[in-house]
Amino acid sequence: METKICTRCGEEKKVIEFRKGELSCKKCISEHRRIQRHYYYLDNKIKIAEKSKEYRSENKDKIQESKAIYRKNNKLKIKEHDKIYRDKLKLEHPEILKEYSRKYVKSNPLKVRISSDRWESKNPEKMSIYSEKAKIYKKYISQNLKNQYVTQMIKRGYELKTSEITPKMIELKRISLLNQRIIKNKTYETI
Ligand SMILES: [Zn+2]
Repeated sequence: METKICTRCGEEKKVIEFRKGELSCKKCISEHRRIQRHYYYLDNKIKIAEKSKEYRSENKDKIQESKAIYRKNNKLKIKEHDKIYRDKLKLEHPEILKEYSRKYVKSNPLKVRISSDRWESKNPEKMSIYSEKAKIYKKYISQNLKNQYVTQMIKRGYELKTSEITPKMIELKRISLLNQRIIKNKTYETI
């Protein structure tokens, strides 16, 4: 059988593994093309990113203005889109959403107050369900000496921030609360 040595990989291969007139085997050539394509892609990616960065910095006002117009004309669409995004986030990464709303509430206290007041006055029946649920939840964390409840107790007693409270402190406070309850001679089945 007729063979040829590939100039790229140096292996001796059957002639049918070479395209006519090529010194490198089909496998090497296709590998080489794959790498070239990849580099071409990377090169372009950088170029495109640079171009769009340049465009953005040169047309800041124009972009701001067109974004504002878009927002104004697509209020409903944006609202729906945001809702879909939030629901997805809630499902897949609830911790991110929680962190985000925590930050938002902290930096926009007045806004949050106003919008929650407005919501509450519009939804009295839901509010009563919520306060009922909140009551049940409060009772649950208190009876079971859950971390959240123990943390609240520490904060109340020592004027500490949540970030200053360590797991060890929670553990000690839990024991102390438990002792107080035992002394008061109340039974808590779930402990
Ligand atoms: Zn080869």
